[in-house]
This record gives sequence, structure tokens and C-alpha cells, in this order.
Amino acid sequence: MSTSSPSAADLVENLPPLRVDGRLMALRHRLAEAGAGVDAVVVTALRNVRWLTGFTGSNGAVVLFGSGRAVMVTDSRYAEQAPAELAAAGCGDDVEVLIARRSTAVAPQLEGVDRLGLEDSIAWREQLAWKAAVEAEVVPLTSLVEQLRAVKDAAELARMQAAATITDEALASVEPMLRPGVTEIQVQQALDAAMRAGGASGPAYDTIVASGPNSALPHARPTDREFQAGDLVLIDVGATVDGYRSDMTRTFVLGDPDDRTEVMLDLVGLSQSAGVQAVRPGAGAAEVDSVCREVLAQGGMADAFIHSTGHGVGLDIHELPTVASQSAAVLAPGNVVTVEPGVYFPGVGGVRVEDLLVVTQGGCRALTRYPKTTVVPLAR
Ligand code: ZN
Ligand code: ZN
Repeated sequence: MSTSSPSAADLVENLPPLRVDGRLMALRHRLAEAGAGVDAVVVTALRNVRWLTGFTGSNGAVVLFGSGRAVMVTDSRYAEQAPAELAAAGCGDDVEVLIARRSTAVAPQLEGVDRLGLEDSIAWREQLAWKAAVEAEVVPLTSLVEQLRAVKDAAELARMQAAATITDEALASVEPMLRPGVTEIQVQQALDAAMRAGGASGPAYDTIVASGPNSALPHARPTDREFQAGDLVLIDVGATVDGYRSDMTRTFVLGDPDDRTEVMLDLVGLSQSAGVQAVRPGAGAAEVDSVCREVLAQGGMADAFIHSTGHGVGLDIHELPTVASQSAAVLAPGNVVTVEPGVYFPGVGGVRVEDLLVVTQGGCRALTRYPKTTVVPLAR
């Protein structure tokens, strides 16, 4: 790793404060653009509530009125935490906190509302409760806040860079364990511990360590299988810092690769770097997907690439924009996406390489910087 890049510890220590100012206003504009014709909207997805207000509790909903008023309903466990977090995030004056057992407690304030928007991710029973509580017509809204979340600001990017650098350092510290006789679970546990020691609140998702034939399963769970000489070892690992996640995959080979393994590593490497080259503002996410697929097709391995090329990352490990053949998304500065082509041969093994990229004005920049040459030499 370049000596000019700051360490994870520096990044974690110098995180700029997260501010949510302007986000409720942005949501109001988005609602108007979408032409949903609603007089008020209830945001119930917790990550959306967090993004809008800075509230990190496990129960809360935000009601945004057409007038510009906003109310956050949460229960008595958060009577102190909620106002404190809202104030710290910069929306303490814009959002009134209502302490109640159920979010529908705000219903009496919705008198005069004709059309009430609910996020389409709302739980069925919650939707029924809202329908029973209000006179208004209830209409579903899709991905409104999620689309806003797809463009990250500098404070969000700082957290994601810290998470990615923690992951780079954790993998560097654990790489010497990649020897015959060590198990997948041992490496997983070492990675998770190293990320926590590096300043992460925890892994961004269940860390994948998959060796030999297990690497042919894109979402393998680590087992007590011992590594053997010649194995492919696929490691998909990310960290969480202040709610924001990172995501990276490297595939190692223990000792000299055989011919087939070498072709897999080369081809996926070429496919991945072609995909990274294609990430820039104005590019269609589907275009990035097809660039990766094309390289694998030229090498005769198109059929072995059995998932989409990538996804957005942020407060969630999978969020917008989706990088897939059916995606209509057009990349914009501030989007953070993965590019992660892979090939998988059941019973034999798999190779995947994944970077986390932020779209910049001129192209993209990788947040994950771990080296991609991953042949682990074994002493003879
Ligand atoms: Zn991943
Ligand atoms: Zn991923």
C-alpha cells in the first residue's frame, strides 16, 4: 500500500461530522418531481430514517408534511437519544420528536391529508395500522429516499474510505495465515477481530472465506475445511464505520496455480479492470455490467459468471444503484458502487475480484486498495 495514503487509524480519528441538513428538503423536491401527489409521507425504513435525521435507534418513523413540518415518532427508550442525535446531525430545529408506542400516534395530526405516501418496504401489519388510523388514501412510494442516498456526501465518503482502509489493513495482517492446514473459520475470525481492532464497529456483512471447491459458491459460509496446497481461497470482506460499509473481494491461490486456475485469475482480473475503467459519470450501470461480461465471454467463461456485476453500498451493503444488465441507472458523481465479476465452476472452484469505487467528476476512484496479485508462494 502506498505510504502516502493515510492509515485507517488516522481516517477513523479524523472523521468529519455527519450533517443531515437539506436532506428533508431534498426529499420534498424528489416527491414533487416524482409527481406522487401526496400531502404527506411516512418514512419507516430505519436506514432511511437514519439518513434523513441522524437517528440510530431501532424504532422510529419520520412523517414529512407537505407544509414542510416533520415529526419523528419513536418510543420512550429513545426519549433522550433521539433529540440529541437529531441536534448533533443538524436537524434538531426542523424535526419535532413525538414519543409514542406506535408511529400511528401521529395520525391525528394528519387531518386534512388526502393522500398519504408509505414506503413500499413497510411491513404488512404496519401498513394495515396506517390504513386503519387515517382517513386519507394510502399510496405506495418506491425508493424515494433510497435514490437520494445513492449520492454520498464528503462525510459519508470519509466513513466508507475508513471502512475500506480498515479492511485493507485487516486483510494484510491476516494474509500470512493463508497456509495449508489453516481453516476458513480461523481466517474469518481473524479478519473480523482485526477489523474491530482497527476501529470498525464490526464486519459489514458475514465475512466470506471459501477455499478449494467451496470457492465455487458465490455466497459460501466459512467452514472448518483446512486449506490445501493449490487451493483457490476467495475472501469477501468489509467493515462498518459509523453505520457506513465497505465491500471487497480478493481471490488467493496457495502455491503455483495450475493452467486452468491461471486462466480464471487472468480473465477475471481483465474483466474487473475493464469494468472499473467503464465507471464514470454518465455511464449506464448496465454498460459497466456488459463490459465485464464481454471480457469473460471472449475467454469462453460467460456462462460461469452467474451473478450481476455490482451494487451500490452505503448504510446498507446492497443499495442503489444496481450494476446489472437490467439496470436503468446512470452513474453520477458521489455514487459508490462495487465492480465484482467472478467465474464459478461447481466442484472445482471460483474466482471473484471486487473493488468499491466512488464515481468522481472525471471517472472513479477505488476506496479498496488491496493488491490484486494474490499468488501466495509456498515454501517447498
Ligand atoms: Zn463483496
Ligand atoms: Zn459486493
